[in-house]
Amino acid sequence: MRLSTYFLPTLKETPSEAQIVSHRLMLRAGMIRQSSAGIYSWLPMGLKVLRKIEQIVREEQNAINCHEVLMPTIQPADLWRQSGRYDDYGPEMLRITDRHDRDMLYGPTNEEQITEIFANTVRSYKDVPQLLYHIQWKFRDEVRPRFGIMRGREFLMKDAYSFDLDKEGARKSYNKMFVSYLKTYERLGLKAIPMAADTGPIGGDMSHEFLILADTGESEIACHRDFVDMSWSDYEVDFDGDLQPVVDQFTNQYAATDEKRDPEAEKALGDDLITARGIEVGHIFYFGDKYSSKLGAIVTGPEGEDITVEMGSYGIGVSRLVGAIIEASHDDNGIIWPESVAPYKVGLINLKYGDDECTKACDDMYGALSEAGIDVLYDDRDKKAGAKFADMDLIGLPWQIVIGPRGIKDGIVEFKNRKTGERQEISPDQAIERLKG
Ligand code: ATP
Ligand code: MG
Repeated sequence: MRLSTYFLPTLKETPSEAQIVSHRLMLRAGMIRQSSAGIYSWLPMGLKVLRKIEQIVREEQNAINCHEVLMPTIQPADLWRQSGRYDDYGPEMLRITDRHDRDMLYGPTNEEQITEIFANTVRSYKDVPQLLYHIQWKFRDEVRPRFGIMRGREFLMKDAYSFDLDKEGARKSYNKMFVSYLKTYERLGLKAIPMAADTGPIGGDMSHEFLILADTGESEIACHRDFVDMSWSDYEVDFDGDLQPVVDQFTNQYAATDEKRDPEAEKALGDDLITARGIEVGHIFYFGDKYSSKLGAIVTGPEGEDITVEMGSYGIGVSRLVGAIIEASHDDNGIIWPESVAPYKVGLINLKYGDDECTKACDDMYGALSEAGIDVLYDDRDKKAGAKFADMDLIGLPWQIVIGPRGIKDGIVEFKNRKTGERQEISPDQAIERLKG
């Protein structure tokens, strides 16, 4: 992409309305613009990152045989009257009336909708278990929308739902999602820590929130130091086998948020205790037959008996993750994207606009990178070198290639790692080889 023809409205000044670094940087890097409180438009570069995150989340859901569907944003109120949540949900729900005076709502979540689909389609125990998900915009009229897209009113969520014949099966589905979440966050360049969460009236141990560590997090967290280096990939993971031993490795360690913190347990940990702030990026939940019983998600068992299915739901805050990743990965100059979600892999800077040799060398490099299938953002604008450096650091692409008159003479380009700041002078071919690897 040539920056001269792109739509990247960067800002030099820090927008005063932004209280936290990710919000500031997203506005300054031209990723989003506010429409009204907690509602945002996504500009090209912001959208590109959002889509990359969405795609990683999608691939990992598909990998555990969870099937993608797409349910509507607008739902009929009657569905929620059946589950009893139409009144319970309160003012966070955006209620709408259509031209025929029918009560509708903009979905804050989709348990009712997916349960209705299941109830109307699946009849036999042979078609269970089933895992379904979608990635769709939600609306919650939050009391305090803030921190940009981190706590928006309209936000993009991946929500999955599991259907099983019994609690044992539900636990298997839960464990699958649990480990899949660890994998997903790692691919996004994040260290997410699973923390036991409230299970509501059902009780038990099958509700976890996934939090990443960040100073601006809304939750107070405390956990065992070991979590910092723990990875799902250190264990033998077979998604078709028994994942309980892997899940136990994580759930046996102490980790808790806010009112769930246990002073005794924390004291016992001594130097192994970490306290920090955290951002919730996911929540998985087993809720038994709460919705299936009310919405008739009943299948016929092997003996002809009725089985009310056991369900769970599994959310990931896709749009919140854009901000969360920035909170976890930035410096004074701007964003530092992990490669997996970076809008472009490399930024190419022409140091001397208008110089024929520089233009030719940059154009050649741009052509070669594009040909090699490397996603490149080429700053070919009529701007001073300093402004180009600042913008490139601000938008945080993992690599930078700088081409100027002096380097051209020596047959080299400057190759910079955005994260470490390390610069190397190498040949154009070497730069391309590095980026291919
Ligand atoms: P929170 O405690 O942050 O309000 P929640 O418990 O209401 O979250 P869930 O209903 O479990 O959240 O939704 C699943 C995920 O969706 C959350 O883990 C979070 O990452 C994301 N999410 C929830 N509310 C918002 C919001 N207002 N803006 C952006 N993302 C959100
Ligand atoms: Mg909430």
